[in-house]
Amino acid sequence: MKIGFIGLGRMGAPMARRIREAGYDLLVYDINSAQMLIMQKAGALPAKSASMLATHTKCIILMLPDSQSVQAVVEGEQGLLATLQPGSVIVDMSTSNPLVTRRLGAALERQGSIMIDAPVSGGVGKAETGNLTIMVGGDERTYQHMIPVLKTLGYYIEHVGPLGSGHTVKVLNNLLSATHLLATVEVLSAGLKMDIDPEKMLKVINTSTGRNLSSEYKLPNFILNRQFDSHFSMDLMCKDISIAHDLINALKCPAFLPGVVTQLWYRANEKGGRGYDHTEIVRLYEEWLEMELKPGANRS
Ligand code: NAD
Repeated sequence: MKIGFIGLGRMGAPMARRIREAGYDLLVYDINSAQMLIMQKAGALPAKSASMLATHTKCIILMLPDSQSVQAVVEGEQGLLATLQPGSVIVDMSTSNPLVTRRLGAALERQGSIMIDAPVSGGVGKAETGNLTIMVGGDERTYQHMIPVLKTLGYYIEHVGPLGSGHTVKVLNNLLSATHLLATVEVLSAGLKMDIDPEKMLKVINTSTGRNLSSEYKLPNFILNRQFDSHFSMDLMCKDISIAHDLINALKCPAFLPGVVTQLWYRANEKGGRGYDHTEIVRLYEEWLEMELKPGANRS
C-alpha cells in the first residue's frame, strides 16, 4: 500500500518515518523543502505538490498546523481536490476545527472520496516511538481499513464517533490540559510567596489529590529546569483552546473556565511571540511575581 503524507513538521516527520519503517511505500509533500530532503533521505519519494501526490496514491495522511492549512491543501490551488482519484481516503491527523472538518468531509464526499479525522495526543517523543493516543472520527469501515497504518503510530486508538468527533475530543482534551497547567503554576506561585520551594511543593502535590500531567511531567521536565523544550508551541496551544472555546460557545454549553483560560494563554503568547514553547506560559506569572519558579527560588 502506498501512503501519501503531507506536513513533515515536528510531529509529521517522525510519524512519516515510522510508516516508512513499517514497510509502506511513502510519498511526501511539505512546503518546507528542508523537511522534504530529510524525508527523502529516510526513503520517501517527494511530490511537487499536494495535487501531484494525489495522482499517485489513494490514501493520504495530513499532519498540518491547523484547519486553514488543511483547507489550503484540500481545496487550494494545486490542492488534493484537483486530482484526487475517486475512492481515495484522506486522514486528517492535525488538530483541526471539527466544524471545518465536517464541511471539508462533505466536499470530498461529493467528489467520491472519504475523510476521517484522527488527531493525536502525546508529543514528539511519543510520535518517535509510536506511542501516540489516536482519537478517530468518521466512517467506521474506513477507520477499520486504516487501523494497520494507525497502529504504526499509536498505542491507544479509539473510534469516538462521526466525522469531526476526533477533532472535538482532541481540542477539549487540550483545553483541559491548558487549564491544569495554569492552575498548577498558580498554586506553586502562591506557595513561593509563602517561601515554599516549588520543587518540594510539587513532590507533595504529586503524591496527593492535586496531581495532574502538568504537575507530574511538564513542571519537572520543562519548567523548573528552565529548558522549555516540550516541542509543542504556544501558538499551537492557543489555536487548540480557541477552537475548543468557540465550539463550547457555539454549543451554548455551561462552561465558565474556558474564557479566562483562553485570555491568559493569548496574553502570554502576545508577550512571547512566535517560537515560544507552550511551557513558557510560566513567564507571564513570573513577571507578575517578580520571581522565577525554580528549585530553591524561595531562598533568593
Ligand atoms: P509544525 O508546525 O512543526 O509542522 C507543520 C508542518 O506543516 C510544517 O513542516 C509546515 O511546513 C507544513 N505545512 C504548513 N502548511 C502547509 C501546506 N499548505 N502544504 C504543505 N505543508 C504545509 O507542527 P507540529 O508540531 O508538527 O503539529 C502538527 C499538528 O499536530 C498540529 O495541528 C498540532 O496542533 C498537532 N499536535 C502537535 C503536537 C506537538 O507536540 N507538537 C502534539 C499533538 C498534536
